Formats: sequence, structure tokens, C-alpha cells
Amino acid sequence: MKNDCIFCAIAEGEIPCFKVYEDDLVLAYLDINPCSEGHTLVIPKAHYAGLLDVPDAALGEILSRVKKVAAHIKEALPCDGFNILQNNGPAAGQSVFHLHFHIVPRREGGEPLSFKSGKGDMAALEALAARIRL
Ligand code: AMP
Ligand code: ZN
Repeated sequence: MKNDCIFCAIAEGEIPCFKVYEDDLVLAYLDINPCSEGHTLVIPKAHYAGLLDVPDAALGEILSRVKKVAAHIKEALPCDGFNILQNNGPAAGQSVFHLHFHIVPRREGGEPLSFKSGKGDMAALEALAARIRL
């Protein structure tokens, strides 16, 4: 547990939450500022700041729980689809620095999540892929 971390405090039961699911590894609860009805956060009980901080084996287990909770929400609400979002760093909109996955239920005809995009320049994309290729 990290002292000044609100999600650690929620995982410890020191701060209440609207719990959806819990097991040894994760806790899932409603986001208090929902993007849609059923917007849920899945957090590991252990503190990791973000995606690059969690060991691969733990990440795999956490993602299996994200899938489990999302599948359950899709049936229980219901909804037509869902987005999984996971922000890393302030520039990406991360505001709580304890790894968490957003499950955002979506309905046909609902407002689209806005990812503003432009038409890519093929030559620039080719150069960029070469630059960042693993
Ligand atoms: P992010 O911007 O990806 O770091 O997301 C953090 C999310 O945590 C935001 O959507 C907040 O609404 C949500 N949040 C912050 N505090 C709480 C809380 N006490 N209970 C539930 N959700 C919270
Ligand atoms: Zn934490």
C-alpha cells in the first residue's frame, strides 16, 4: 500500500466504493464520474503506478479479471459494447497514479467517445514505423 494513494485506500477498505467485484488480486468499483451507466474501474490491490510498472505475469492475471468483469457487466446491464481505457501519465489524462482499467459500457446510438483523428501521410507513417519498430 502506498500512503498517499486513494486507490490503495479504497483497496484497503479505508475509503468506501461502489463495489462490483473483488477477489484476492483485484477490486472493481463504479467510477464516481461516469462516462456512461456502468462505468467501472478495475484495479490491482497491489500498488503499481501504471502499465509499465506492473510485472507481465501480474498484468496477465489482472487483464483476465478485466475481461471477466466486462463480460458480466455486458450481460447484467445490458449494453451493446464497451471500451477498455487505461491512461498512463498526466499527458494521457491519468489523474490517479495507481494502475486501473476503465470499462465503459456503450449503447447503440449513444455519444461516440471522441478520438479526434486526421488522415495519415503514408510516407510519414512509413518513416515513423521504421523509427519505433521493435
Ligand atoms: P484516470 O483519469 O485514468 O486516472 O482515471 C481516474 C478515475 O478515477 C476518474 O475517472 C475518476 O472519476 C475516478 N475516481 C477518482 N476517485 C474515485 C473514487 N473515490 N471512487 C471512484 N472513482 C474515482
Ligand atoms: Zn495505490
